[in-house]
Amino acid sequence: MSFAQIKRLSQRLSVRLAFYFSLLFVISAGVSFGILYFYLSEHLKKNDQSIIEAKWREYSEVYRSSGIDGLKSALSADRTREGDIPLLVQVLDSGGASLFLKVPEDSQAEHSEIEKRLRKNDTNDGWSDIRSPHENDRIDFFITHPEGQSVLLRVGKSSDPRDDLLESVAQVFSLICAIAVAVGAALGMFFSNRTLAPLRNLVSTMKEVRQGSLSSRVPVTPTGDEMEELTSIFNQMLDRVEHLVVGMRETLDNIAHDIRTPVTRMRAVAELRLKAPASPDDRTALEVCAESAEDVSSILTSLLDLAEAETGTMRLRKELVNISSLVRPVIELYEMVAEDKAIMISFEAFIDPLVNVDPPRIRQVLGNLLDNAIKYSPPGSEVLFQAEQSDDSVTITIKDRGQGIHVEDLPRIWDRLFRADRSRSQQGLGIGLSIVRSIVQVHGGTVHVESEPGTGSRFSIRLPK
Ligand code: ADP
Repeated sequence: MSFAQIKRLSQRLSVRLAFYFSLLFVISAGVSFGILYFYLSEHLKKNDQSIIEAKWREYSEVYRSSGIDGLKSALSADRTREGDIPLLVQVLDSGGASLFLKVPEDSQAEHSEIEKRLRKNDTNDGWSDIRSPHENDRIDFFITHPEGQSVLLRVGKSSDPRDDLLESVAQVFSLICAIAVAVGAALGMFFSNRTLAPLRNLVSTMKEVRQGSLSSRVPVTPTGDEMEELTSIFNQMLDRVEHLVVGMRETLDNIAHDIRTPVTRMRAVAELRLKAPASPDDRTALEVCAESAEDVSSILTSLLDLAEAETGTMRLRKELVNISSLVRPVIELYEMVAEDKAIMISFEAFIDPLVNVDPPRIRQVLGNLLDNAIKYSPPGSEVLFQAEQSDDSVTITIKDRGQGIHVEDLPRIWDRLFRADRSRSQQGLGIGLSIVRSIVQVHGGTVHVESEPGTGSRFSIRLPK
């Protein structure tokens, strides 16, 4: 699994929830086990100490009555009776020299090393311990004078059996904990995945709505919980939004129709009248009427396009087409306007990738960008179209050597009715780029601009393949 895949997986809520619960389980199980382990080891230690004390009393009695020889026989009798209790028994004279030493059975090979370590240990009455050379255990012992005796009797016990038991407990616990974490994480992921399914449906529906599909709804699972409530409320909200948007669109269509009809009639009448002989003044007046009617009609079309794209009611008829089939007709359309300003338009078509778009809409986008490039470029300059592609997208750029845009205006040029051209030297309403952005966004693409005043601008539109 690659790092990117792991990162994407860790960003899923169900995985994060399962991870947090597993972590919580490991911490609480670890703390509980730590406490249990501590009490168990303390208990086993006390148990060992009481065995040592009992043995010390027993051997001190034997020593008082039968001396070292009696002690030796008692030890071998004990060994036959009780098996290998890892006991240490030592008798020391009043000067601290060892008179007799029996080391635990499992440490016979390290007899001299144990003796050396015992020599280094003080002979004060009470409890003490040494580190055993055998498997790194400890030997806990009790040392004092048997009643009425000058010698010291030391009785100790290896911690090996107790350590082994604690180690086994720790191993069993770790195994149980690992199984519980694995099973818990898998089940946790399964259940949180199921619980979060409505949330994922909600997100995918929201994405569809963002793409303009206002009729999309979230499937409602009748669970009776908060998720059901959330999805139902969201669907009701979408019903209401769709109702409002459709109503608004119908109203806009009606208004557009109501305005367009008289304007078209006005233009037709003016053009018809222009065909007949007329005085120069009348002709000028009629030409102004026809041009104004044309302007009102195109402004109306732009406003309707913008409303459609921004409200998400724009219907796209997507086709798989080559970039050149989008760019070339637009260049042809603007050839005459460009010629008037002696501007040369070229298309660098090293590659001609396919894109799935609504061709007239994307031509409208390219037309708006080319119109601006010609409008804001000086006569005799050049406008260049280019196409690039990546794994998942195609980018069309249009570069001019025009007046450019000030850096503070750059973020605002996409706003409705914003015109960076404050001198109003060129005709325009300031809605061309808003339409460009909205149409590209409806296609799931993005727009970008780089510009420097006096040098020129570079607009790019990135469309998903
Ligand atoms: P307009 O109808 O004014 O051209 P747009 O929305 O198309 O409206 O553009 C907004 C503003 O962005 C324009 O007023 C202009 O100042 C600036 N602009 C757009 N394209 C260019 C360009 N190629 N070169 C310089 N300025 C540009």
